Amino acid sequence: MKTYTTPLGLRQVRVTDAFWKHEMELVRTRMIPYQWEALNDRIPGAAPSWCVHNFRAAARLQARRRAGEPWTYEVWKGTFETLPRDGEDPDQDTFYGFVFQDSDMYKWLEAVSYSLMQHPDAELEKTASEMAELVCSAQDPDGYLDTFYILKNRKGAFSNLKDHHELYCLGHLTEAAVAWHQATGKTNLLETAERFADCVAEHIGLEEGKKPGYPGHEIAEMALLRLYEETGEERFLKQCRYFLDQRGQKPHVFLKEVNLERAEKEEKPLPEEDAAKLFAYYQAHEPVRQQREAVGHAVRAMYLYSGMADLARLDGDEEMARACEELWKSTTRDKMYITGGVGGTHVGEAFSRRFDLPNDTAYSETCAAVGLVFFARRMLQMHPRSEYADVMERALINTVLAGMAMDGQSFFYVNPLEVDPEACRTDKRLNHVKHVRQKWFGCACCPPNVARLLSSLPQYAFTANGEAVYVHLYMASDAETMLGGKPLCLHVRDGWMQGRVHIDIESDGAQGDICVRLPGWCADPSWKSTKGSGTVRDGYVVFSGEWKAGDSLDLELPFSAVCLEADWRVREDAGKAAVQYGPFVMCTEEKDNGHYLHMLKITPDSLDARVEKQTIGGIELPVLQVRGKKLAQEETAALYTPWKKQPEEDTRVTMVPYFAWGNRGEGEMRVWQRTE
Ligand SMILES: [Zn+2]
Repeated sequence: MKTYTTPLGLRQVRVTDAFWKHEMELVRTRMIPYQWEALNDRIPGAAPSWCVHNFRAAARLQARRRAGEPWTYEVWKGTFETLPRDGEDPDQDTFYGFVFQDSDMYKWLEAVSYSLMQHPDAELEKTASEMAELVCSAQDPDGYLDTFYILKNRKGAFSNLKDHHELYCLGHLTEAAVAWHQATGKTNLLETAERFADCVAEHIGLEEGKKPGYPGHEIAEMALLRLYEETGEERFLKQCRYFLDQRGQKPHVFLKEVNLERAEKEEKPLPEEDAAKLFAYYQAHEPVRQQREAVGHAVRAMYLYSGMADLARLDGDEEMARACEELWKSTTRDKMYITGGVGGTHVGEAFSRRFDLPNDTAYSETCAAVGLVFFARRMLQMHPRSEYADVMERALINTVLAGMAMDGQSFFYVNPLEVDPEACRTDKRLNHVKHVRQKWFGCACCPPNVARLLSSLPQYAFTANGEAVYVHLYMASDAETMLGGKPLCLHVRDGWMQGRVHIDIESDGAQGDICVRLPGWCADPSWKSTKGSGTVRDGYVVFSGEWKAGDSLDLELPFSAVCLEADWRVREDAGKAAVQYGPFVMCTEEKDNGHYLHMLKITPDSLDARVEKQTIGGIELPVLQVRGKKLAQEETAALYTPWKKQPEEDTRVTMVPYFAWGNRGEGEMRVWQRTE
């Protein structure tokens, strides 16, 4: 039996879930319109994006070119971010923002496409259609498309693959183009992406006269595979294979770029042996098949591993699959926060050493959690094992959702597990940590990433291969697929948040397996079905047979409050415990527990959690009242005084789901609690 699966199409799933639908609707009704305003620089007080500005400028350049009018470049002088001298009076014909600014447009178009597939909206489609046209009209005649170089100096294109994100923009363009094609049937963006990919292939490769390069910021790898799957064009599969196999090979192409720059400044070239150290940040320190430890910039890493997992699946490449498995273990066994966040250090927005997971200075970028969800889904597609789905759910429900406020219009880039607002305001070491969600960011990678993930959520809940359909995440929905050549519909009823899943089957004789996940957080699952008791395989209950109307599955997956401790090598969490309720990692907030959360203790061996419901940001969430102690906050004579047992009193510690923190005003927050 083949085990590889692919996600169900977005038109095949209709989500009705009270919780997930709420989050998806926030994206559709609040975030997508808000992002549109941001891309057009119309959010008062927010950093401008310059995104639409840049595309319009590039499109004007192309029009003038076609008309034979002259155009002079203002040649770029070496900043990663270009800002106008006078913000009130920007030059309409030049590029502003970060070098990768185009990607914000692509991410918006991608999210809009997913949304349109589930919720047709003529007005939104018209706006998106104009933007897709604008993108196409900004393309150079040879297929090149990056407004930074188009407007600043086309001759410099592909000269700085290490840092200049042209191939990253190709990746995001391609992701948007595939989604746009699926949503509207229009081929304009798809053709534009194909032409850019072909332009890249003409300049980059191992053949004579080409540069042996690859993306400095990965994503083109997985995007090209989507393009291959969408178009059936083998050349995109080949291009991805080349990018992955060339990464980290010697002589090192990034070192060559660095040495060219150094030569211009009359500095000595760096030796080849420096490459491994210099380029681990880009996961280009060694060939990808040899990589075993998750290192470097966390978002880059997640995108790379996702591409590797896709290629391993499509090529049946065992060696690549083994590398993915090892990188998965390194990520999730040694370097992941309990919230599913990755990236322990803000230095390079990167993975730190094993077990270095500080809570207050955490980076845990929202995009990196989005990337981990991508990676997990791709591992699931290769091997449906519930451990992958457990991590996918952990990252999604805790960190990805935390990235967006309950109003859908302010965002976290960094997701710490412990926050003191005063420290955030005054301590430069915490410059990267914000205690309130921000309206927008000049480098606005995270919000559009949340949007494109949440608006395509059903693709993470269900995968299938014609012989089996897998339910990885529980969400009330109607999901259609083909099983044994016949249609089958799963009607998943609401109730997973109450610990019950009921699925009605609609079919007329479809034959095959329906596999439902047993979540790792559920200690005491039980199930029954009209097809018997099923068998457990890799954390899924597999029900087999011929499915008819009237068949159904029932699972009891009760939530309980559980105390978790970290591996003893995570020094920041020693002597502390975190509480998880079902899939929700819980946290304390000042709002419920007062100032100085570090003066609270919980008792892990007799947790005694009372579950209540509370409406936060318009949605009803589980809130725990946990038995604990509150240490007396007594004035002492000096900073240090002889030890004595501190007086303490019994208290109830209130805990809310981590993802919902910071939605009720400013205050402290803490995930890891002191214990008795
Ligand atoms: Zn980000």
